Amino acid sequence: MLEEVDGKPKASFKTLRVADLPDHDVLVDVAYSTVNYKDGLALTGKGRIARKLPMVCGVDLAGTVISSRSPAWKPGDRVVVNGWNLSETEWGGYIQQQRVKPEWLVRVPDTFSLAEAMAIGTAGYTAMLAVLALEHMGVRPIGPEVLVTGAAGGVGSIAVSVLAKLGYRVVASTGRAETHDYLKSLGAHAIIARTALTDKGGPLQQERWGGAIDSVGGQTLANVVAQTARHGAVAVCGLAGGSDLPASVFPFILRGVSLVGIDSVQAPAVRRQEAWKRLASDLDKAKLDAMTTIEPLSKIFELADAIVRGQVRGRTVIDVRK
Ligand code: NDP
Repeated sequence: MLEEVDGKPKASFKTLRVADLPDHDVLVDVAYSTVNYKDGLALTGKGRIARKLPMVCGVDLAGTVISSRSPAWKPGDRVVVNGWNLSETEWGGYIQQQRVKPEWLVRVPDTFSLAEAMAIGTAGYTAMLAVLALEHMGVRPIGPEVLVTGAAGGVGSIAVSVLAKLGYRVVASTGRAETHDYLKSLGAHAIIARTALTDKGGPLQQERWGGAIDSVGGQTLANVVAQTARHGAVAVCGLAGGSDLPASVFPFILRGVSLVGIDSVQAPAVRRQEAWKRLASDLDKAKLDAMTTIEPLSKIFELADAIVRGQVRGRTVIDVRK
């Protein structure tokens, strides 16, 4: 739990009672949470994520409904919560039971265990929202290659897997040479170094990508946009490399390139349900298992530090009972 100590947020383990939980309508027996980039920022203090204290961190959770004052849910329902400002203004998933609002919940598709639902977690559901956005903009497997930046991270790993399963020729951009075999095993057909996209380039570069999913931002995103082929689209998910966008309008007005923003936190219920339905059909479970590590909640500080230093590969599920 994050609490204010000497004027600063400080995280520690605490014992709470059910009566201490927020007064929302659905009580969930939490099985798993995850480590997302935002969790790393919150726990290391490198980003001011929690906007009120005290705060139970963890941007998502998966578990089973214990009781519900809402007719929409009943005891035994397997549910997941992603986003909805968990860990910012609402208490999150690093806890064994949590009370949440009924409208935040999505049913876990039968094909996934609760651990697999969290292996997907906010990162995977965001990756799926990005794939849906590219499809919506007309990006198709028969077109030019698609690029995934920050490919060995959580969003990137699931984006590579899903796009490959859908038949796209996926180029993965990574800063870690040791992840090349891993990325190929997820379905990347080619790999480029992160540094190939980090130097300042022209506003219109050689057209290469039919579409792209970007977790990096900054100069990388500017170069990706400048290299996107006519009428292609770039789904913008993250800022692992920077929050600025030093680009020009030329790709948009001369090539009809689209930049599509991905917001997983406040996405409407219908889009979430669509994303989870598509994950159930379009994510290879063997690949999901291969990119997932399950860790105990007791190691959360170490894991938070690793993710902000860009050292986490794939997805880390947190077992909140350990
Ligand atoms: P991870 O830390 O798992 O992955 C980020 C990846 O980005 C790293 O693995 C690394 O990939 C790459 N990277 C890290 N630092 C840098 C850098 N300085 N320059 C270039 N590349 C870098 O995080 P997630 O996948 O969970 O999240 C990715 C981004 O998406 C984050 O910024 C996060 O905040 C954002 N996000 C946004 C959401 C939304 O709703 N829009 C929801 C979820 C996440 P590699 O080693 O392969 O180079």
